[in-house]
Amino acid sequence: MSAVRLISRRVESLDEDLVKLAEICELVIKAFAASAEMSLPERVDKSVDVYVHLATGTECTNWDVPEDALGFHAISSSRRYDSEEDEYYVNTSERHEVFINLEAGRHLLNRSGPWLECDLEAWLVTIPHEVFHALEWIQETGGLTPDEVYAARVTDGDEWPEVVSKVLRAIDKRLENGQQSGPSSEFGATEDIIEQRARDWFLGQQDLVAELCATLYGNKENMSLRV
Ligand SMILES: [Zn+2]
Repeated sequence: MSAVRLISRRVESLDEDLVKLAEICELVIKAFAASAEMSLPERVDKSVDVYVHLATGTECTNWDVPEDALGFHAISSSRRYDSEEDEYYVNTSERHEVFINLEAGRHLLNRSGPWLECDLEAWLVTIPHEVFHALEWIQETGGLTPDEVYAARVTDGDEWPEVVSKVLRAIDKRLENGQQSGPSSEFGATEDIIEQRARDWFLGQQDLVAELCATLYGNKENMSLRV
């Protein structure tokens, strides 16, 4: 039996405000973990864990992602130079893992003074969005982690990042072929479809939104609280 488990992890350096945001992220992760969207494609015949790190701009920087990114699916770092060994290398993820940047979330929520429900949703959609990226990667690779893909394919003579690009292009093509609507936007088929899926899922979660508001504000009418 194959299955995907979502495992949430908080990084250690969260301040009190960010802990509050981590708590509401955990409600979203729990709801998403129980949803039909988590069913694995049949060709993946093993159980897979996907880690959702509740993190900060520091983890973005560690993965060479802009520190104001709302979240990302960790595949590899940029190419780096090791001066002692005099060689280039990349760090590849040894797990299926996504990062949610709580600091960027706080910035988005605070920008308009009192929090707006639309901003809260726009931010929290990042969680299913990034998990969908990980699920598409899992489907395309039969459940191999980025590090396993690299180890298996680099022997074919492919260089990083071509190894990664091939997987991402295959996902893009598969999703584009299955697309009902017209041509994709500038972000490409994968981004468009995944964002739409994430929004559709979130729109169907009215109970969850009520729970989030209750956690944050006591009730939905009391949304002037800021973190
Ligand atoms: Zn994306």
